[in-house]
Amino acid sequence: SPPALNLQFDNRFLRELPGDPETGSRVRQVEGAAWSRVDPAPVLRPQLLAYSREMAETLGIGEDELRSPEFAEVFGGNRLLPGMEPFAANYGGHQFGHWAGQLGDGRAITLGETIGRDGRRWELQLKGAGLTPYSRSADGRAVLRSSIREFLCSEAMHHLGVPTTRALSLVGTGEAVIRDMFYDGHPRPEPGAIVCRVAPSFLRFGNFELPYSRSDLPLLRQLVEFCIRRDFPELEGEGEPLHAAWFGEVCERTAVMIAHWMRVGFVHGVMNTDNMSVLGLTIDYGPYGWIDNYDPDWTPNTTDAQGRRYRFGWQPKIAYWNLIRLAHAISPLFEDPQQLNAGLQRYADVYTREDRANIAGKLGLGECRDEDVELVQQLHTLLADGEVDMTLFFRGLADVDVGAPSLLPLEHAFYDADKREATRDAFDDWLARYAARVREDAADPAQRRTRMNRANPNYVLRNYLAQQAIDRAEQGDLAGVHELLDAMRRPYDEQPGREAFAQKRPDWARQKAGCSM
Ligand code: AMP
Ligand code: MG
Ligand code: MG
Repeated sequence: SPPALNLQFDNRFLRELPGDPETGSRVRQVEGAAWSRVDPAPVLRPQLLAYSREMAETLGIGEDELRSPEFAEVFGGNRLLPGMEPFAANYGGHQFGHWAGQLGDGRAITLGETIGRDGRRWELQLKGAGLTPYSRSADGRAVLRSSIREFLCSEAMHHLGVPTTRALSLVGTGEAVIRDMFYDGHPRPEPGAIVCRVAPSFLRFGNFELPYSRSDLPLLRQLVEFCIRRDFPELEGEGEPLHAAWFGEVCERTAVMIAHWMRVGFVHGVMNTDNMSVLGLTIDYGPYGWIDNYDPDWTPNTTDAQGRRYRFGWQPKIAYWNLIRLAHAISPLFEDPQQLNAGLQRYADVYTREDRANIAGKLGLGECRDEDVELVQQLHTLLADGEVDMTLFFRGLADVDVGAPSLLPLEHAFYDADKREATRDAFDDWLARYAARVREDAADPAQRRTRMNRANPNYVLRNYLAQQAIDRAEQGDLAGVHELLDAMRRPYDEQPGREAFAQKRPDWARQKAGCSM
């Protein structure tokens, strides 16, 4: 039957950047090319498990189309729509601080660039769609568990107002995937699934680092020019000033993104340069996690347990380190690479600005003064000492009566009664100073609450909530995924009947690390 799904494609990445002359998935080093043509590998029984209503609407895909067998076929990788030209992108990256050489899309395959109803360009990319030239020794597939985590978190982050790649659909493959989740000493076969990720661009720092590492100046230049033309058309000028302005913009967007992560308690977990978007989007949801009890040293990544490079509190400086890698990568385009320092300085300035805006928002102040930065630093120390839930504490802070401050509306945020009592006096003292500061502020109480509730989410995608939804989904019950997705659509609201999603982590779920594959 002729496809009912009607999407318009304009595949500029393929058209404007050099490709690999070889097609297919033979594992290889690909030089002088930004992409390789490769088709998704068909799956046994593609079945739509979940979708994002908002993303579908943006792309102009209606309910009927979503529920048609054709949709699952296309977004499970079994069928191409007219205009789709699948490819895997070529990139490298620094992993855990070390140059790792060519990486590339090992299990992600872009279907094409579609123009949405909003007139914007959206790249559609299947994750887990089979082998590519960049799969190395891996299988190109993704398990249901990790796919649900990526699907839910992409959309949750979007609704939280955090720049992110999006997710259109979650399609079960009807095939088993073997992963290193050991059970009785044996690898456990798990259900497979494919997420369709969506973003204006999936270009990463690593796309630029790879040609730099190979001294391939022509490709490096082409990539930069292409990225500016397609993804940053608002930037004006040409040559070095344009390239410097572009880098500055990347720095600014990265700072904004990281400040959001710190505001909502998101820990990415694998901030390798191949996982850093030049558009400043949160990309590649692997072993990410959310802060329950406030702990700047926490990382969800079990493979990073030693060095904790990707711990919560280090995210701002790791992003900076990554930007320096990008600066190095594009430095051959500059007669005077010192120009790039302005971009790096912009990262620091914008991060400081955004951090201060977060402080004002989270504390409910009209402006953030220098002493407020100190006030919040003292609070962070207390939150860590008292073992206090970050989300519940900041949300509850709006309930503190600044005329008669008390810890009472915040007691439910403590994980340990002994630690609560041990820090009670210090908290009382902090609350008194906080209340005095709020009383000095011009805003009226209603304004203050509104401001705080916009900065402090009521719902975040706590690790154990996602895991509960995954456990049910693995038994064939998708309702948990759907309900969690729906709750995360309005994270700043109180949703009657959904109080269970706004509780602190139960004891049994204490600090379980996220899952990466
Ligand atoms: P990540 O840590 O998820 O960013 O992945 C790092 C690199 O490994 C990227 O090049 C991925 O495409 C690749 N990779 C991760 N998992 C798989 C897989 N199951 N099959 C093929 N390649 C993979
Ligand atoms: Mg990656
Ligand atoms: Mg990954």
